Amino acid sequence: MNRKYRKTIIAGNWKMNMLASQVKPFAEELKTLNPRAKWCETVFCVPYVMIPAALKAFKDSRVAIGAENLNENPKGAFTGEVSAAMLADLGVKYVIIGHSERRQYYGETDISVNKKVHAALEAGLNPIVCVGESLEQREMDITLELITLQVKAALAGVPAEKMRRIVIAYEPIWAIGTGKTATAEQANEVCCAIRTVIRKLYGARIARATTIQYGGSMNEKNARELLAQPDIDGGLIGGASLVPEKFSAIIDAANQE
Ligand code: PEP
Repeated sequence: MNRKYRKTIIAGNWKMNMLASQVKPFAEELKTLNPRAKWCETVFCVPYVMIPAALKAFKDSRVAIGAENLNENPKGAFTGEVSAAMLADLGVKYVIIGHSERRQYYGETDISVNKKVHAALEAGLNPIVCVGESLEQREMDITLELITLQVKAALAGVPAEKMRRIVIAYEPIWAIGTGKTATAEQANEVCCAIRTVIRKLYGARIARATTIQYGGSMNEKNARELLAQPDIDGGLIGGASLVPEKFSAIIDAANQE
């Protein structure tokens, strides 16, 4: 983390795990565990159907609400889809784009990720852009090249003045939901490489100000060490974001002195 230059953001990704009726008790418990907001920004990215309940439950706290996906088109005949404008209209602030589960199960590509980034920015949302390598790619020793390509593709055409709204989440696919975390050094190496890509594209000032999260089995036990790394500015958290005690401990780790 480097609080002097950029935001630390701890974001939960609930995926298809909770029910709307569970949101209020969850929020009450978390607010009891973390009564005071500190410097770390907290976000819950939730399924579309839970957005109104989450906005209501966290209304009097400094927790922001995000979505887990969006459609790249501004409006029109796309049955079952949700646009960036619809999310912004509800009061959503963040949106996860290009999560590896969407790339793997729903055919999302670097091209569609880039379109979604533009759609989110156009509507005033803050994209959390996910990039990451598979185990095979890591073993082939092509991680840094691959991540560089993913970041460049996601940011294609994004003007410098919109970069302050972009968050990048480095999520090695082999570490998501598996209990296997990248070591703090492995995670920092890739986050540092992402910052280098941004520096080459946009210059040192913007690179220094960009929040780069790590995601992949981050939990209450390993968060402190991961977040102590100079280029890791927060976490995107799946499993541990479903348990208030665990998520609260991660927030505390992000608020360490
Ligand atoms: C995620 O879904 O982005 C994630 C990192 O999940 P988990 O924390 O469960 O590995």
